[in-house]
Amino acid sequence: MPIRKQYNNDFSKIIIKWYNANKRDLPWRNTKDPYLIWLSEIILQQTRVDQGLPYYLAFAKKFPRVKKLATASEDKVLKLWQGLGYYSRARNLHTTAKQITQHHNEKFPADYNELLKLKGIGSYTAAAIASLAFELPHAVVDGNVYRLLSRYFGIKEATDSTEGKKKFSKLANQLIDKKNPGTFNQAVMEFGAIQCKPVNPDCNVCPLQNPCYAFSEKQVSKLPVKSKKIAVKSRYFNYLVIHYKNSIYLNKRTANDIWKGLYGFPLIETKNKIDETEILSSAELKTILEKNKFHVRAVSKYYKHILSHQQLNARFIEIEITKPLLNKSLVKAKLNQLEKYALPRLVERYISER
Ligand code: SF4
Repeated sequence: MPIRKQYNNDFSKIIIKWYNANKRDLPWRNTKDPYLIWLSEIILQQTRVDQGLPYYLAFAKKFPRVKKLATASEDKVLKLWQGLGYYSRARNLHTTAKQITQHHNEKFPADYNELLKLKGIGSYTAAAIASLAFELPHAVVDGNVYRLLSRYFGIKEATDSTEGKKKFSKLANQLIDKKNPGTFNQAVMEFGAIQCKPVNPDCNVCPLQNPCYAFSEKQVSKLPVKSKKIAVKSRYFNYLVIHYKNSIYLNKRTANDIWKGLYGFPLIETKNKIDETEILSSAELKTILEKNKFHVRAVSKYYKHILSHQQLNARFIEIEITKPLLNKSLVKAKLNQLEKYALPRLVERYISER
């Protein structure tokens, strides 16, 4: 798409000038170390800066070099990630750290296409590392960039359509300041994050106001456009908190899902909300309890947990058994040592409130 000249005029200069005066002082902005830049980018995916910052600091402190992360156990990595959600990021982080250590001599490749071959690194993260660490001219396009470009240039293609993605990426790569690609990328993202905000941006103080399409055409609240509505699936988890003396049983999730590698309680999932008596008389429960005699101590309320495509509804059934379980895949954990295990936020919430 040819950029209309008056819209392109000084876009990069204005954005960079604004960035230098308004940027937040964030630790990953004071380094050219590709490892630390990569760490920050993975942590910040689908995460707000204020939420991700303490995790970044904790990871950078515990694993200051990629080899330290590569040689840590998966349990340690997941435990440090606990509470941040989207745990596949932590597992991919660990896998990539091993790849970099074993096959790249502990150095991130200074090449966009080579970066793309690493686990968990897509076009956005590859462009971020390439530009921020190695000053290579690859434009980053995240939600903030979509919003800014769509409003400023009046682009109405949906940002989640294949065509739209191509168009935004092409435009961002035309606009990028080839001499300062790292600063340009930081500047557009920061501008989208704190000036051209999703709701009620303060256009009156915006240096791009003239000529901003959305401002002059009163389209600010209508742009950017998204086509798809995400269908949210409801799931019902009946967690069994099985007590034997002063221990409870945990299981490590091995299924290839969002919580792979984390610990939880044995679980009976149902399609709908069902009465607890149905769970307590089910064959599945008898199998989990190995036909043990049991006594129900308490049944919790439902805890809701919203993920991007799912709503999890979990209740916790506290059960006491009279003989220890023999199932080797379960971990018998002391009640006062649960903080050793990486737990999903939902389970952690229940434990802290019970
Ligand atoms: S004028 Fe408003 S809508 Fe346009 S770029 Fe600035 S903040 Fe965004």
